[in-house]
Amino acid sequence: MGQPSELTQIGTNSNAMKISRRKTRSVRVGDLTIGSESHISTQSMCATKTQDIDATVRQIKLLQDHGADIIRVAIDSRKDVEALAEIRKQVTARLVVDLQESYKLAKSVAPYVQKIRYNPGHLYHHEKNVSVHEKVAYIVNVAREHDLALRIGVNFGSLDPALAGKDADPLEVALNSAKEHVGYLEDLGFTNYVISLKSSDPNDVMDINLRAAELFPEIPLHLGVTEAGMLPMGEVKTRIAFENLLVKGIGDTVRVSLTLPHAEKYKEIEVAKAIIADVYAGRFRSVPRFVQQGLNIISCPSCSRVENEAFVELAQKVREMTQEFADRHLTIAVMGCRVNGPGETDDADLGLWCAPSHVNLKRKGELVGQFSYEEIVPRLKLEIDTLTAAK
Ligand code: SF4
Repeated sequence: MGQPSELTQIGTNSNAMKISRRKTRSVRVGDLTIGSESHISTQSMCATKTQDIDATVRQIKLLQDHGADIIRVAIDSRKDVEALAEIRKQVTARLVVDLQESYKLAKSVAPYVQKIRYNPGHLYHHEKNVSVHEKVAYIVNVAREHDLALRIGVNFGSLDPALAGKDADPLEVALNSAKEHVGYLEDLGFTNYVISLKSSDPNDVMDINLRAAELFPEIPLHLGVTEAGMLPMGEVKTRIAFENLLVKGIGDTVRVSLTLPHAEKYKEIEVAKAIIADVYAGRFRSVPRFVQQGLNIISCPSCSRVENEAFVELAQKVREMTQEFADRHLTIAVMGCRVNGPGETDDADLGLWCAPSHVNLKRKGELVGQFSYEEIVPRLKLEIDTLTAAK
């Protein structure tokens, strides 16, 4: 499983780049090590409903067959945990669970996984009388007891509300959030963890990870451009960020987030491996900075939390409908659920986020209304016509 080590990657090609990886600690995820002593690992996440055991097992095997080192599964309820227990019996892959609001589920999922990801911005919603520090201590105790790795997963679309003011710079808020949580884990004497700092803007991903590499020199970094969208732009955005970081030796594990039908989810791994191989072979396709030209469509890669299976088709329809606006400087966000939908659509000119039987439409952060899956694309077009006519 996995890629050759970095030294092999360097040594097998006469055009190879001499890249020195940043020296980091080694983080154990089952039998895999993340950090400078190991190859750059690749990850993906199941987009299937976790409780659809057959579909999730199929998805995990598909990703594993394409070389995914770690596969993430979303867990939000006891029923998801029961499904995970069954899934675990049927797969050998290294699994990581993605916990959002339900931090207490860490204890129940621990026997079935090698790693837990938590989002500092989502530790506020439940049990408001319990401090974030206590919640983190709970997760750390579980990780220690079961010999798991952790990821502090900071996301620009769901920043810690206690740190984020209306006019605060998201990059500073994200870094402060990471610093706070690194402080918690280090104070607790727990070092088997990685950090990720993700944004849908590749330039933010570059800037913040350059800062993180200096601030947290020993801690392995997980790279990702979140909600990079559909191919081919999703790959372009990710490639620009990853090329600029990997060439500096920054990045120990990577996730490419693409909006894809379930059967094509393996392309996330293919693209990730191709980017790493190209960087180490000295083949660069990007310019140093990402310059957004014209229409920018942000869309999430979907996961078990997606509220309606029509989401990927909706994202594709939005892309088709907006072809005629390709040269307009507009950002449209298309998100699969209420977890990251409300936050990630705040900064877009127009944002859609899916509910089970309707789609919420926002214009510059304000809710315009809720529309059926049939109504939403024509309604979005109306909004684009109005916005572009006013420019
Ligand atoms: S927005 Fe929701 S459905 Fe989309 S990837 Fe994020 S959590 Fe999953």
